[in-house]
Amino acid sequence: MCGIFGYVGKKNTAAEIVLEGLKLLEYRGYDSWGVTVKSGKKLVVDKHVGKIGDAKVKLPKSTIGIGHTRWATHGGVTVANAHPHLDCTKTVAVIHNGIIENFEELKTDLIKKGHKFLSETDTEVVPHLIEQYLKKAGFASAVRDAFNQLKGLNAIVVAYAPSQEIVAAKTGSPLVVGIGKNEFFVASDAAGILKHTRNMLFLGDNEMVILGPSADGLQLLSLPSGKKKKPVFETIDWKIEDVDKGKFDYFMLKEIYEQPKVIRNIAQTYTDQITSLAKAIEQANGTFFIGAGTAFHACLAGTYLFSTIAHTHVNTAVASEFNYLEDFLTNKSLIIALSQSGETIDVIEPLHRAKQKGSKVVAVTNVLGSSIYRLSDHKLLLGAGPEKAVASTKAYIAKLSVMILLAYSLANKFDHGKKLLLAAADEVGRLLQEANLKGIKKLALQLRSVEHIYTIGRGLSFATALESSLKIKEVSYIHTEGLAGGELKHGTIA
Ligand code: GLU
Repeated sequence: MCGIFGYVGKKNTAAEIVLEGLKLLEYRGYDSWGVTVKSGKKLVVDKHVGKIGDAKVKLPKSTIGIGHTRWATHGGVTVANAHPHLDCTKTVAVIHNGIIENFEELKTDLIKKGHKFLSETDTEVVPHLIEQYLKKAGFASAVRDAFNQLKGLNAIVVAYAPSQEIVAAKTGSPLVVGIGKNEFFVASDAAGILKHTRNMLFLGDNEMVILGPSADGLQLLSLPSGKKKKPVFETIDWKIEDVDKGKFDYFMLKEIYEQPKVIRNIAQTYTDQITSLAKAIEQANGTFFIGAGTAFHACLAGTYLFSTIAHTHVNTAVASEFNYLEDFLTNKSLIIALSQSGETIDVIEPLHRAKQKGSKVVAVTNVLGSSIYRLSDHKLLLGAGPEKAVASTKAYIAKLSVMILLAYSLANKFDHGKKLLLAAADEVGRLLQEANLKGIKKLALQLRSVEHIYTIGRGLSFATALESSLKIKEVSYIHTEGLAGGELKHGTIA
């Protein structure tokens, strides 16, 4: 994972715009970062190791810039390996998210052709490939030809010194284009762009976009062919305050405090969506919940809720294991995929195969236009607003709220479910009052020096035991295991 941000427009503060965008994407990768702007017929690059933090860039005024915050997969954390990467002529700059599976063959071939590599990354093959294709084609065609050579799930954004345009292409990793007035933004997620515009184009897999500094400066193309496509724009309803920490020290804390609002929103406004999803479940022959990490715990909680409230059987699987259970799928099966980001690859892969079997897919996700949202037949947005902290809180609560309402809807007791959720929202608010936090803080102080923590629970609390274990591990780095209460005696005590 990494953060990508690009700008093309009329403003001459591209470097600052890109840097500000990268700061919002830092949760996606933070070992190193870099920005490139076009200055006259040249590209100027500034790269650093470490987090962006409050960094400023010293780059010339420019109307075109691209930047990247890295989470290394190939090559150590060094300035040379930080993106953007350039070709031999220093006129092509590339930022990249993903892994180029065939980069070794491509690199060997390019070295034979005389290209000089300065980094250990897989990414650097891209500018050199583009340089190669530029000998015979224009900028956009050269990017297309180069991108078509790459194997794996990738997203790239490219700037070229002689050009007024930037080009972006993707096969797997997310890319969103923000449509401004005579200007465009391209980023790994919509939250990075929100400050500038809410009008977005979510790029699909095998799509490429050419962006120039005018109102009609956007061209969308299909890959590998390069055939023109009509873009479908969407307006995102997130607010700018949603991507600001406000009075909180951390995004995670802010998001914890947003939970009552998230629960209330689902209780009060989801009647139609829940009713129609409940109908789809009733009509299906076999319903499967799939998710990874926290989302899987919400799936597991859903299984218990469906059993106790709706007396309805559903199957739950860790998404990455679902491949091995697909023999059960038919064109009557319903797969309900839970994913905050809508981009979890372990969830996306089995969904493609389920669709091949004719099964219907439901996305329960927080991100409009995300890959899972796009490939699903039935879509339910969690409405939790952007979740910036890697450790999910409000989106988990939103998934549980959806599960509760669904279960009560299936039991023909929707209004009762709604009442319970509204009461839960009040209770979460009460729990977060300063007086009640004292006990939690005291307990945390006692636990901070322990080596191992075991969280246990039965029934619905088993899901909470697993989720609290995940959360403690992720945030404190203390070894924690979540267990079904009855399992504690099997090995754990020893
Ligand atoms: N594979 C590339 C690298 O290691 C990109 C990693 C990323 O997505 O941040 O530089």
